[in-house]
Amino acid sequence: MTILVIAEHDNTSLSPATLNAISAASVISTFEDGAVEVLVAGHNAAAVAEQLTSVAGVSKVLYADAGHLENGLAENVESAVLEVLRNPTRQYSHLVVAATAYGKSIAPRVAAQLDVAQVSDVIAVLGADTFERPIYAGNAIATVQSVDTMKVVTVRTTAFPLASIGGGATVESVSPGHDAGVSRYVGRELTKSERPELTAAQIVVSGGRGLGSGENYEGVLAPLADKLGAALGASRAAVDAGFAPNNYQVGQTGKIVAPQLYVAVGISGAIQHLAGMKDSKVIVAINKDPEAPIFSVADLGIEGDLFEVVPALVKALD
Ligand SMILES: Cc1cc2nc3c(=O)[nH]c(=O)nc-3n(C[C@H](O)[C@H](O)[C@H](O)COP(=O)(O)OP(=O)(O)OC[C@H]3O[C@@H](n4cnc5c(N)ncnc54)[C@H](O)[C@@H]3O)c2cc1C
Repeated sequence: MTILVIAEHDNTSLSPATLNAISAASVISTFEDGAVEVLVAGHNAAAVAEQLTSVAGVSKVLYADAGHLENGLAENVESAVLEVLRNPTRQYSHLVVAATAYGKSIAPRVAAQLDVAQVSDVIAVLGADTFERPIYAGNAIATVQSVDTMKVVTVRTTAFPLASIGGGATVESVSPGHDAGVSRYVGRELTKSERPELTAAQIVVSGGRGLGSGENYEGVLAPLADKLGAALGASRAAVDAGFAPNNYQVGQTGKIVAPQLYVAVGISGAIQHLAGMKDSKVIVAINKDPEAPIFSVADLGIEGDLFEVVPALVKALD
């Protein structure tokens, strides 16, 4: 049986999250003894399909090309995915997609159409039908066994490495499904930043309510991120207070990150925040309250006023 991965892309380049999903699919394939195929649903996205041919572990790239797939509308991608899965000449055991906003908008639709239960946010594969996933904001890990014939699985990208280069897959055109006609692409406002993308960054500098204002977030915290070549993150309190944009939020209801270095500045360390960053390799906390829970997960802690500590760090990095 074959495992199908849905590629996330912008018709030009592949999102790294797809490489994490391919790694997860490769682990499943060791239990299932099946091949891993990747579906590129897009428009004029041949370059993306081409990129995937050289990814280790991928046996075939399926390319569904149509105008209605250009903007990744979930209902239309769902149709393309179902077209592949329901093709009687193909036999799939799993559908795997990264648990990103894109993946999370498609997988449940497909699972509902197939009348199967989705296994969400998988962090480990214990068998072809058995997975681990965090529950209660990461405070417990559930082992879940799926008895459905088709397993629809979303995977937490930080739990699986990027698939390496080294494959020799072929590209095959497949039916793009139909235009569901229930949603329409209106426009997209992309944040343009010189900084690395939050979920892919090696270093993340995050600010919390302790920063006091958006001006301080930009004036005090951003220079540290710039010096370290880091992505900027924020606690929900900082986002709610308008210090930082919504897409900077790290945590249970924000983004999950696991960089090499996470610097938490003026963040107390509520469990909902820890759920999004506690798998970081090295955690540095800067907080004036020695009782702040962030210190319990920090590898290195600086107890002090961030308005003194952060500028001193920036100066030291000159
Ligand atoms: C359902 C739900 C989901 C949630 N999801 C998320 C989520 O995804 N992400 C998230 O972050 N939160 C989330 N929260 C909110 C979470 O519970 C906390 O309220 C939030 O994380 C607190 O943010 P904070 O640490 O910035 O603020 P605070 O808890 O107010 O902490 C501010 C910290 O700054 C320190 N500080 C203040 N001034 C200074 C100074 N001058 N120098 C040094 N330190 C200073 C203080 O000692 C304090 O520890 C969620 C809550 C709920 C209920």
